[in-house]
Amino acid sequence: MMLRHAMDVNRCGCGLRLGLVEITRVEDYQGPGLKSTGMFPDFRPEMWQAQKDWLVPAFYDPQEDRIRTSIHSWLVRTPHHTILIDSCIGNHKERPVDPRFHMRNEPWIERLARAGAKPEDIDFVMCTHFHADHVGWNTRLENGRWVPSFPNAKYLFTKKEFARWDDRRPDYVHRESERFIFADSVLPVVEAGQMELVDEGYTLDDAMTVEAAYGHTPGHIKIRLRTDGGHALFCGDVIHHPIQLPYPKVYSVFDDDPVQALQTRLDVLDNCAAHGILLLPTHFAEPYLCRIDSVGTAQEPSYMPIWQR
Ligand SMILES: [Zn+2]
Repeated sequence: MMLRHAMDVNRCGCGLRLGLVEITRVEDYQGPGLKSTGMFPDFRPEMWQAQKDWLVPAFYDPQEDRIRTSIHSWLVRTPHHTILIDSCIGNHKERPVDPRFHMRNEPWIERLARAGAKPEDIDFVMCTHFHADHVGWNTRLENGRWVPSFPNAKYLFTKKEFARWDDRRPDYVHRESERFIFADSVLPVVEAGQMELVDEGYTLDDAMTVEAAYGHTPGHIKIRLRTDGGHALFCGDVIHHPIQLPYPKVYSVFDDDPVQALQTRLDVLDNCAAHGILLLPTHFAEPYLCRIDSVGTAQEPSYMPIWQR
């Protein structure tokens, strides 16, 4: 399998090439995350202790009992198009329930430029789901109005995830933690005529296919990339943190449906392990991406990362 790292692996760069496709990471945040059990209620000290030779300190800080996390986009350049997968937190967004996300002012657009793309270069935006850390840079504030950050892009959303968040629906169920997200990061894209609703199975450039990965949210998707030089899976929040590899039953408090999320997680990990697929989550800290080795049993599934540095 052809896998080449670009020269700089830094805050905005984790460039690699699969066949004719280039993939670069564009970071919006990296550092401490939530307390372990604040994020993963089943997280136990014996878990990190059993894995500490690789888990500490890169992914977990035992002193503070905090997970370490990254929030990043994946910039994908095929021979035909420039595609952004997940758009992080964004700037100037009112997110009163999460101080890390609230009213930020970060140079993410500059990091995108260092990764080789200007906002007007983006042809497609794909969001694995509509949580605040995956749609934020869909829009930016201009003269007091939210406008699409990528003026030439089509934003490809799935009908199921869009319906879950569309607060104009009469049956929409309001959640305080999700206030403002649809209004400031999704609706302006609709109003600008830049949204295209697609179904699972939609394929872009004969290379990137939208697939169901429900559970974390009802319409969560994963995006499968097939190239002559290898096969990758952008899995969004199917897996938040590497502790969920040896212990896939560890669920996140942000999973809408933890039972379905677990089944999706196991399906993804089995699929990656069986076919040597490169896994590209949204929140793994450095080195960000891995292949998967299955080390468990049918009764007790367990996996280990094979880091791609
Ligand atoms: Zn997320």
